[in-house]
Parts: sequence; structure tokens; C-alpha cells
Amino acid sequence: MILNCNACGKKFVVPDSAITSSGRMVQCGSCGNKWKQFPIKKSENLEIKTKIEKETNQKPKKIKKSKPKKKREISLYSPEYLAKKHGIKINETNIDKKIDKDINKKIGFGFYSSLLIFIVSIIFLSRLIYFTQELIIHQFPFLGFYLDYFFESIRNVFELWKNLVTSY
Ligand SMILES: [Zn+2]
Repeated sequence: MILNCNACGKKFVVPDSAITSSGRMVQCGSCGNKWKQFPIKKSENLEIKTKIEKETNQKPKKIKKSKPKKKREISLYSPEYLAKKHGIKINETNIDKKIDKDINKKIGFGFYSSLLIFIVSIIFLSRLIYFTQELIIHQFPFLGFYLDYFFESIRNVFELWKNLVTSY
């Protein structure tokens, strides 16, 4: 049986056997209001019961409604949801790897190309100096010593490089 406090409107559930047909004094545990309670007719009791059920069900319903919404918002843009719903396949790891590869390619190409340009320019410069050394020495005799030293060092470097290549 559900009792309704007339003072504060609070409802209490008590065993049907507690309230006899002659009535019983009850006290509201919330506000202290006392009254003589008679057994409630089944129809009235049902009304109160449904009211309580509505009130108690309202809060959980709201929580239930809001929770799936949040989940859906997140899952709408998740790769799994897109793949299931729209057939869109997003492989984030693959994209990341591709970007990494591209960056590596760019860095690698930039590094090796600049190294190649550097080597080619050195070779070209040395060739240019080699073919014009007589002219340079003729015009600037004091440079002859430095040119000899320069070519000697280049030859030494090439020897070292050849040794390195053959040793591997
Ligand atoms: Zn009360």
C-alpha cells in the first residue's frame, strides 16, 4: 500500500497488513505530519502507484535518452561506423605511414640531390681548375703551389674513397 502525506506530498510504501480496516495512526518521516490512515481503495492505490512510477521513471529516462545520443555523436565519425554505414574505409595508420613515407622521400631526395649537386660542382670546379691551371699559374705563379696541393689532396681523397669501397 502506498500512503500519501497531505502536508508535504511525500509517498510511502507500507505493507497492506499494517493498515487495518479500522485505521491506524501514521507519521510522515519527512515532515512529521500525523494522520489516521484507513485502507486505500485499490483504484486509488493504483492511481498513486502509476504517479510514483511516472515520477521515478522520468529521471532514468532522461539519462537513457542523453547517453545514446552522446555515443552516437562520437560513433558517427568513427572509422568503424563510416565503414559500416557508408562503406567508407578509413585506415588512419596507413595514411600516417604514407605521410611519413612522403616526408622521408622528400627529405631523402633533398639530401641526396644536394649531395649530388655538391659532388658534381666540386668535380666540375676541379676539372675547370685542372684545365685552366696552366693559365692560372702563368698569370698567378704563386698559386701553383696551392693548386698542386689542392690536386694532391683531391687525389688522396679519391684514393681513400676507393680503398673504402673496395674494402666493403
Ligand atoms: Zn509529510
